[in-house]
Amino acid sequence: MQTEPEIGEILVQADQLKHRIKELGEQISLDYEGKDLLLVGVLKGAVFFLSDLMRHISIPCEVDFMAVASYGSATDSSGVVRILKDLDAAIEGRDVLIVEDIVDSGLTLKYLLRNLGARGPASLEVCALLTKPERRKVELRSRYVGFEIPNKFVIGYGLDFAERYRNLPYVAALVEQ
Ligand code: 5GP
Repeated sequence: MQTEPEIGEILVQADQLKHRIKELGEQISLDYEGKDLLLVGVLKGAVFFLSDLMRHISIPCEVDFMAVASYGSATDSSGVVRILKDLDAAIEGRDVLIVEDIVDSGLTLKYLLRNLGARGPASLEVCALLTKPERRKVELRSRYVGFEIPNKFVIGYGLDFAERYRNLPYVAALVEQ
């Protein structure tokens, strides 16, 4: 009989998240001073991170969202990405910072960088809360990274398993029974 998966080891505690996100917000505020900063959140996982991050950004900035679906299994993306919701406005000439929850294989982000890059932004960078370097399949550079984590499927602080667990205030490994 299939039982409910369990919340496993906590990999990033709530106070660590709070502290690091404040640092990232302060760094972004310094780096983008005088620029036309647009944060692009990738739905749904990045919403929690983005809203906390934005409150630590002290320079004028705007926010827009994209939703993408990656073809593949539940835990492995294929790199073939479908846009479910596009940005509301054009990004030509703007300083765009993609805000992602987690970079795993990097395939989704590679697609987003190519797609948004083709729209003529003044600059295009990435801010990812979590990264799993061991899983990377493509060469990618994220300007801002919150935490490097081991190769485990994680939940919490926006990250889901079958749409659940996004509301956990920390990041934990998922234990499947
Ligand atoms: P990638 O294209 O880099 O392989 O996958 C990126 C997307 O896969 C993330 O934005 C996230 O939605 C999902 N993902 C990757 N690793 C995890 C994980 O450990 N937990 C959860 N909940 N989602 C993950």
